[in-house]
Amino acid sequence: MTQVQCHTCHAGVASYDVIHFGSMETGYRDLCSHCFNEEVGRTGQIELEQVRFQPIDMLDAAGVKRRFHFLLLHLGDRVSLEAFELQDGERGGYQFQILDEAQADLFDLMARLVERMRRALSLRHLVDDGQRCSIADKTVRGRIDCDLGSADRVPILVIDGREVNWEQFGQMLMTFEGWQFKFEIKDPSEQV
Ligand SMILES: [Zn+2]
Repeated sequence: MTQVQCHTCHAGVASYDVIHFGSMETGYRDLCSHCFNEEVGRTGQIELEQVRFQPIDMLDAAGVKRRFHFLLLHLGDRVSLEAFELQDGERGGYQFQILDEAQADLFDLMARLVERMRRALSLRHLVDDGQRCSIADKTVRGRIDCDLGSADRVPILVIDGREVNWEQFGQMLMTFEGWQFKFEIKDPSEQV
C-alpha cells in the first residue's frame, strides 16, 4: 500500500485517504482527509462534523464478500461521502459517492449511501460460464476508468466490481450485432 505523509499532521496515511490540495499560486500540499476537512472548516469559518467511518463488508449478488472503505470530504458548501474497494492498496472495484449540502447529517448520509450500495450490489450485469463472459440482460451499469496497461488511451470498464477491458467489452457486444443501443453517462455521485 502506498503511504503518503500528511503535510499538516505528518502522519503516514494511505494514498486513498490523501487529498492533493492547493492552487497554482500557493503550491500544492498532500493532506489527510481529517486535516483537509479541518482546513476547509477553518478557511470557511464553519463548524464541521468529522466522522471516521470504519470499513464495512457487504455481499454482492454472487455471495462474494466485498470490503468498502469510506472517505468523507467537506467541500465548503457541500459534503461528499465516498465508498470504495481496494485492490493492491489502491482504489479499485466498486466505487460510490453521495453528495449533500454541507450541514447534512453524516449518519443519514452514510445510511443513504449504504442503501445505494446495497441496491447496486444486488444487480449482476455480466454472466461468466467459465469459458466466456457475457452481458446477462440488456442493461449494463459501470464505471469508466483508464486502462493504464494499454498503449492507447482507451477505457477500462468496471462492471459488477470487476475490470473489463475495451476489447473484452467489444466481444460481449457482438452478441447483439445489428441491435441498437443507448449510452448515457452520469456523474459519479448520481445513481445509475
Ligand atoms: Zn493530517
